[in-house]
Amino acid sequence: MKLLLTGGAGYIGSHVLLSCLEAGHDAIVLDDFSNSSREALTRVEALTGRHFSLYEGDIRDATMLEQIFKDNKIDAVLHFAGLKAVGESVQKPLDYYDVNVGGSVTLAKAMAQAGVYRVVFSSTASVYGDQEKMPLTEENVPGEAASPYARTKRMVEQVFEDLCISDQRWSVAILRYFNPVGAHPSGQIGEDPLGEPANLAPFAMQVAVGRRQSLAVFGDDYPTPDGTGVRDYIHVMDLAEGHLAAVNFLTKNSGFGVWNLGTGRGHSVLDVVRELENITGKPLPKRIASRRPGDTAQCWADPSRAATDLGWKAKRGLSDMLTDHWRWQEQNPKGYNK
Ligand code: NAD
Ligand code: UDP
Repeated sequence: MKLLLTGGAGYIGSHVLLSCLEAGHDAIVLDDFSNSSREALTRVEALTGRHFSLYEGDIRDATMLEQIFKDNKIDAVLHFAGLKAVGESVQKPLDYYDVNVGGSVTLAKAMAQAGVYRVVFSSTASVYGDQEKMPLTEENVPGEAASPYARTKRMVEQVFEDLCISDQRWSVAILRYFNPVGAHPSGQIGEDPLGEPANLAPFAMQVAVGRRQSLAVFGDDYPTPDGTGVRDYIHVMDLAEGHLAAVNFLTKNSGFGVWNLGTGRGHSVLDVVRELENITGKPLPKRIASRRPGDTAQCWADPSRAATDLGWKAKRGLSDMLTDHWRWQEQNPKGYNK
């Protein structure tokens, strides 16, 4: 199949791109490099020995989208491009609504005009907000999402659901990622956040590699087994395989579907710290800090729907994720800037 990956140079997109090329699909990447590096794409080409087309531009540019669909006979779109920082979305809500919601609507219009009706959309476990009952099933979505970021993701889910109701040619897979961690086992591609990482694994990695002094553990008084926050960390290569399964599903089914991509297991912040210390063989400087506003105590998936419908299950555990993430970080202490 010929696949268009919006945001294909980003952390998740670049790993999915690699898996798509290795699975024999043809790929086209659209990215504005606002949060990624061309070097990621160069490395995917080197690792796979495969070439793919690149369009540098913005998903909100309708003229460019029209041209991409004219130039290429695309079978399905994997839509990763967007803004993803929860805290920033509180400060700059208009940017988030513009890029995430506006950009997705522009993309959907261009797809419909071109007669392309298959799309996989990157959603997030943040749409579940703060809940007491775990694990989270796809039906657990509360009426109101917890942040502008989560609201934009929920809105785009609803846009695609409405499209499926309005026109039966649409075939939409909403994938709600839990907490992506890890890197390709080669250590050649991985997560390369600009500025200070907002997420636990990349921050801890930068401490371990000596780029930052110590990890602040955001709260040790949550109602969890060790008092620190619990999340469902999932290996980025498992996510990549989930996308291949979703694309395969879309070729055989039409309509709207939502799937959790998680392992179904929760790990605390201190579990992550301990595991990383085992892998690096040295203690990780850390201190207990106050809770981060807006954080939830716990969050893990019920991934059984993806197993039933897509035939997909996460295969890798916390140790695999952190081992691969660390290999990337150690080989590329400054990320793609060498
Ligand atoms: P990322 O920032 O690494 O990748 C996003 C890519 O989109 C980047 O390459 C960026 O340059 C590009 N981009 C941003 N705005 C664009 C625009 N207007 N036009 C064209 N390209 C644009 O993020 P990621 O971690 O790879 O996340 C991919 C998707 O998955 C995002 O939609 C994100 O919200 C979602 N998601 C991520 C996580 C996570 O923790 N990483 C969790 C759940 C969901
Ligand atoms: N966390 C932390 N220190 C950090 C970053 C995160 O203690 O520097 C904690 C955070 O409070 C949460 C967990 O690690 O319990 C995962 O946070 P992350 O931001 O990676 O994911 P999210 O909270 O968005 O699920």
